[in-house]
Amino acid sequence: MDVIWLNRNPSIRYTYRPSIRRAVNNVLVGLQARLRTRRVVGYPRHLIVDLVNVCGLACPICPNGRGEIPRQPGIMMPSLFASIMKTMGPYLYTLTLTNWGEPLRHPQLLDLLAIARSYPCYIGFSSNLQHLPDSLLDGLIRSGIDEIGISIDGATAATYNHYRIGGDFNTALTNLKRLVTRRRELGSITPKIRWQVLLNRYTEPETGAVEALAREIGVDSVMFIPIFIDISRMFTHTPAERLARDRHWLPRDPDMSFYDTDTGRLKGDPRFCNKIWDTMVIHPDGAVSPCCAVIDPADDFGRLTEGTDFNSIWNGPSYRMARSRMAGRRSDEGHIVCDHCLQNGVLIL
Ligand code: SF4
Repeated sequence: MDVIWLNRNPSIRYTYRPSIRRAVNNVLVGLQARLRTRRVVGYPRHLIVDLVNVCGLACPICPNGRGEIPRQPGIMMPSLFASIMKTMGPYLYTLTLTNWGEPLRHPQLLDLLAIARSYPCYIGFSSNLQHLPDSLLDGLIRSGIDEIGISIDGATAATYNHYRIGGDFNTALTNLKRLVTRRRELGSITPKIRWQVLLNRYTEPETGAVEALAREIGVDSVMFIPIFIDISRMFTHTPAERLARDRHWLPRDPDMSFYDTDTGRLKGDPRFCNKIWDTMVIHPDGAVSPCCAVIDPADDFGRLTEGTDFNSIWNGPSYRMARSRMAGRRSDEGHIVCDHCLQNGVLIL
């Protein structure tokens, strides 16, 4: 079993099916990111599609759990997803089917996974595993997707209940065991099953217990992820203000946090973001954001529909402006959400 600590320069292994088209795109996009071009000839290498933007839990730091995402609740229509994948699928390295919602709540999830699997990318999503009906279990395992990350914060119900408000530890654990057992029964090596733990004040002392339990159950990996604070106000408040709101969630050990606990800034104070050259986030209604943290539709970079010319967004005014700013050119007037990152440190991951 792999144990991955995202606070310790992790190396995560992805396996890709071969694709010449994708390899050529990779070289092109990488070169343009190095040259900090305003336009990109090519396609994103990484795509996040939020299949559903409701979750059902009320986790106290998650913007969704806090009820602070000003988007309409919705689900991604298969026809729109098929059109998105037709454009971008051949070029993707990774396709992540979660942003702030719970994919297992999508009523046509297996149809969407079948569309996704017809492309050679690494496909995964995260789930709180509160809802795993028998009708979904076998289909998930047979879908051919590469990985499912299961969010269970802690090795005991008491610890879990601090953060996963509205979730049930025993349900999550039972469903995790069902997934592992059924995968074995079906003789499948996919999806890889990763137990994900947010490192917070309460999970900090239980990392060893999580590892032991994960080995006993037979998951493929455990990933410890330092908690991100106050994402809801990432683009409207200073690091110090955000720290003041959520400081009490940070682990006591500073090595288990992404943040400088004096200033609230991300350690290393990162000021460059590759995402605007190689990543796209798409919400259920087709709205496009440059990264997972953009929760306000006012900060979106456009909206894809089945008839939209992809380049009108990927090389549209917002992406061009963001790339100019990241390159240190201020030729485009106006506000762009990335401005806040340039002043306060960009979101890593
Ligand atoms: S600069 Fe900030 S807002 Fe822009 S894409 Fe990067 S992390 Fe997101």
